[in-house]
Parts: sequence; C-alpha cells; structure tokens
Amino acid sequence: MSTHSKRFENKTALVTGGSRGIGAAIVRRLAQEGAAVAFTYAASDEKAKALVASIEADGGRAVAIKADSKNAADIQRAVSSTVEQLGSLNILVNSAGILGLGSVDDFSIEAFDEMYAVNVRAAFIAAKAASPVMERGGRIITIGSVAGSQSRFPGSSAYSMTKAAMVGMIRGLALDFASRGITVNNIQPGPTATDMNPADAPYLDSIIGLMPVGRLGTADEIASMAAYLASDEASFVTGASHTVDGGYLA
Ligand code: NDP
Repeated sequence: MSTHSKRFENKTALVTGGSRGIGAAIVRRLAQEGAAVAFTYAASDEKAKALVASIEADGGRAVAIKADSKNAADIQRAVSSTVEQLGSLNILVNSAGILGLGSVDDFSIEAFDEMYAVNVRAAFIAAKAASPVMERGGRIITIGSVAGSQSRFPGSSAYSMTKAAMVGMIRGLALDFASRGITVNNIQPGPTATDMNPADAPYLDSIIGLMPVGRLGTADEIASMAAYLASDEASFVTGASHTVDGGYLA
C-alpha cells in the first residue's frame, strides 16, 4: 500500500466516460483510494458492469449510470443521480470524449456537432449541474489533449478545436469557482494506449516515432495526474492545463 492510499476516504466522485480507457483507469484509482465513484457511459453496458463488479470485489463502491454526453438532460441526471446514490459530489471528472479526424473538405457538419457536444458542451453542462451541489474542497477535472496545444497532423482541426476549447473553459470555470474553494483543472494526455489508439492503428508507428520515451502512455499514468489534482495536496492548483505526454510536446 502506498502512503497515499485512501486519500479519498469519505469522498464521492462522478467520472464521465468511465467504462473504458482513461476514464475507467480514473474510476479504478479513485475507488482504490477510498472514493465512492459513479461513472457514466453511453454504449458499453458489459464493460460498465464488469468495472462495478471488480471495484465491489475489492471492497469499493461504484455506480454505473448510462448517460449520453450528447444529451444535456442525461448529464444533469447523472449529476443528480450521483448525489442521490452517494450522498454528495466532491470530485467531477469529464473524461468522455470522441476522436474524429478528417480534412475540412470532407468532415461532416454532423460529425463536428457531435464531437463538440461530447468533448466540450458536456463538460460545461456537467460543471453547471455540479455547481449548486459541490461544496468547498470540490474538484473539477477535464481531460483535454496535447491536441489542444499542437495539431501536428492534417485532419485534426475539429478535434484540436474541442481540446483547445477546454483550456479556455477551465480557466473561466476556475475563476467562477475560486471563491467557493473548488479547483478546476485540465489534463492534456499525450498519445495513450486505449481503444482510441488501438494497437493495430496504421498510424501507431509514426506516433511512437514522435514519442521521446519511445512508447504510448498508459491510462494509469493519466489517472495518476487526475488523482493528484483531485487530492487535498493540489489545493493551490487551479485554472491550469497539465500536460502528461512522455515528452511529446517537448
Ligand atoms: P476511449 O475511446 O477508450 O473511451 C471513451 C470513453 O468515453 C468510454 O467510456 C465511452 O463510453 C465514453 N463515451 C464516448 N462517447 C460518449 C457519450 N456520448 N456519452 C457518454 N460517454 C461517452 O477513449 P480514451 O479513454 O482514450 O479517451 C478519454 C479522454 O481522453 C477523451 O476525452 C479523449 O479525447 C482524451 N484523450 C485521449 C488520448 C489517447 O491517446 N487515448 C490522448 C489525449 C486525450 P462507451 O464505452 O459507452 O462508448
């Protein structure tokens, strides 16, 4: 057991997009360290159930909520359901996200609207819904991307826009929440091994070639930063975007 075990005893959390990938790693980490954790997902019923079961088997508490981030009412229901089931909301992590790539020539407006809704609008709605219920010491964390700082590849205009939007949004939210003792931060992961970057992706070799550490990150390495930002240790950290990328942007 690390010295940081049970940092989140008596804390409650809601992680959007927690059924797989980075979100699931954050759910596991917060639960391992004592938080009761609710998480949303859109499609992966079996993975969501399995995650709840594995956390419960380890003696933790987790609740899966099917809620589509494209839908404002679903997000609001996820926040109210978290408070109903867990009694409070101390930590909100917006991890749900989708990656759409393509040149502006053939990128559909529907795909643009969907990615904006899931990656940007949902985070704003979740923060707005959490605002009346979150107390002093609360934590809001969004998962942006290195794509918010550097596009690097053609075909990334819409995705990069959604991630750059988080950089601005969390600055404003941090100011809105500062007097209430709630911090707001954004994590910018570099390329990380999840379903979003599958091992058989044709572009994987070229991405790894751009990684100074010679490998993709792991979801657990991103969860470590989320756990730090969610902890009491990060009480003076707010309004900032934190890059965790194995030197990708260096
Ligand atoms: P995954 O594709 O592995 O997982 C995405 C998660 O988001 C799933 O739990 C999925 O739920 C959920 N989700 C997707 N759409 C919706 C929706 N409409 N409503 C609710 N939940 C939804 O992605 P990652 O874990 O890789 O990505 C997590 C975040 O990290 C994203 O914001 C992504 O942009 C960002 N990121 C990822 C990087 C990477 O290299 N992997 C790098 C930088 C940033 P379901 O299982 O039900 O579909």
